[in-house]
Amino acid sequence: MTGLRKAGLVTALAIAGLAPACNHLFAQDKAGSHKKTNIIIIVSDDHAYQAISAYGGKLAETPNIDRIAREGAIFNNACVTNSICGPSRAVILTGKYSHKNGFKDNLSTFNSGQDVFVKRLQAAGYQTAWIGKWHLGSKPQGFNYWQILPDQGMYYNPDFLMMDGSTKRVEGYATNIITDVAEDWLSGRDTTKPFCMVIGHKATHRTWIPDTTDLGKYDDRTFPLPDSFYDTYEGRYAAKHQDMNIAHTMRLGYDLKMMPDTGFGKGNYTRLNKAQRARFDAYYKPIEAELAAKHLSGNALTEWKFQRYLKDYLSTAAALDRNIGRILDYLDEHHLTENTMIVYLSDQGFYMGEHGWFDKRFMYEESLRTPMVMRYPGVVKPGTKINDFVLNLDIAPTCLDVAGVKAPAAMQGKSFLPVVTHTVNNWRKTVYYHYYESGEHSVIPHFGVKTQRYKLIRFYQDADKWELYDLQKDPHEMHNLYGEKGYEKIQTSLKTQLTAEIKHYDDKDAALVMKQNI
Ligand code: CA
Repeated sequence: MTGLRKAGLVTALAIAGLAPACNHLFAQDKAGSHKKTNIIIIVSDDHAYQAISAYGGKLAETPNIDRIAREGAIFNNACVTNSICGPSRAVILTGKYSHKNGFKDNLSTFNSGQDVFVKRLQAAGYQTAWIGKWHLGSKPQGFNYWQILPDQGMYYNPDFLMMDGSTKRVEGYATNIITDVAEDWLSGRDTTKPFCMVIGHKATHRTWIPDTTDLGKYDDRTFPLPDSFYDTYEGRYAAKHQDMNIAHTMRLGYDLKMMPDTGFGKGNYTRLNKAQRARFDAYYKPIEAELAAKHLSGNALTEWKFQRYLKDYLSTAAALDRNIGRILDYLDEHHLTENTMIVYLSDQGFYMGEHGWFDKRFMYEESLRTPMVMRYPGVVKPGTKINDFVLNLDIAPTCLDVAGVKAPAAMQGKSFLPVVTHTVNNWRKTVYYHYYESGEHSVIPHFGVKTQRYKLIRFYQDADKWELYDLQKDPHEMHNLYGEKGYEKIQTSLKTQLTAEIKHYDDKDAALVMKQNI
């Protein structure tokens, strides 16, 4: 935090009646040096805000994520700049858009030699660690300790890549093990120094394999179909063109654990130990037999898949929430809560059947927006609700701000501390987005701009198409208004804003596409 910012923050806290509680920010430890705030970032994978009760979702209860929101802040408009796994992590590390950090799609390899915020924290005396899913291809740099899943990693009995170059297989369930490793690292750290730890969870990524203790957790529920479940994609070429729908893309074996010998069996089922396999067989075999007896087809089969998808997904998310709770408990038990900022976010949002989909990638709301909550005792007032546009791009500069380290000019995100403390008047009014990957799931590359009310998207490469939405009148983005009478002015205005964003973030690829005006 800069001196001026710190002064502003202290004033704001005094007004909010929080100043006494924030003394730790500037406290002197026994050695006489400033006691810096510890930082924990928990990044999950594909966790939808629709599946989090703090967001008002009715699908499942997430008491521990809700606890962070209740004791700190919830971000109702947290967005990502490129809605896919690896690229989002690269944005989180660098505070730069994909075209600046070089990691545009999941086929890329991250250049770990570049400037990442943890290196600056290290230089400022922080101990740093990344534990769990990394998914960036290269080895981490800037961490005192890392232990990562290779590529996507496995849910059961996962292998970990270790710092000495070895691979270590650990018996058990990934979400629990990652938390075990995180707690072990915390317990073994140098307690005279502040720390920054990133916990990267595999959950709730496809193929949504629950911990054995959570199998059947939601079997007594029938989930309502989203309003847009039977979307026919009129006026939306790219939405029609995708291959990420429950009806045709989602596989009974690979995704839903039926016919394990032909789908799920590859690397998942065969990996289970005897006891785990017995639990899986006891749970999934009767479901498989029931499905075979029903002879479902058409919409009935699609709706059966939807129910099974949600049951597996939410059961997988239950372990995620429980393990977030373990970290909160650890902080309490070790008297670290008061001096630790903790952020929980997903690498992007996910479709829970909206538009008939699973997966992410599109600039539509469910995948553009990501769940994000934070707790920062003494600085963020409990129960804070933030509606401003905050991005995964802002995590890096925010962590630097918390540590009192100046963010480099090349970092494109901004610290959101002034947003959560209500000490800023001039925050961003638009979200700029750019998705690149053209491959699995057939989502056409696109970029666009979102304002409080509207969204303009330009699809390119595999198709040249524009889409325009009035989010107030059409929150489910079913009616593309681009080119419709009466929207000429707003369309022109949004194009001007999009051009300005492209220039601001220096996105040369998008600038080139914009020159080919259609
Ligand atoms: Ca992801």
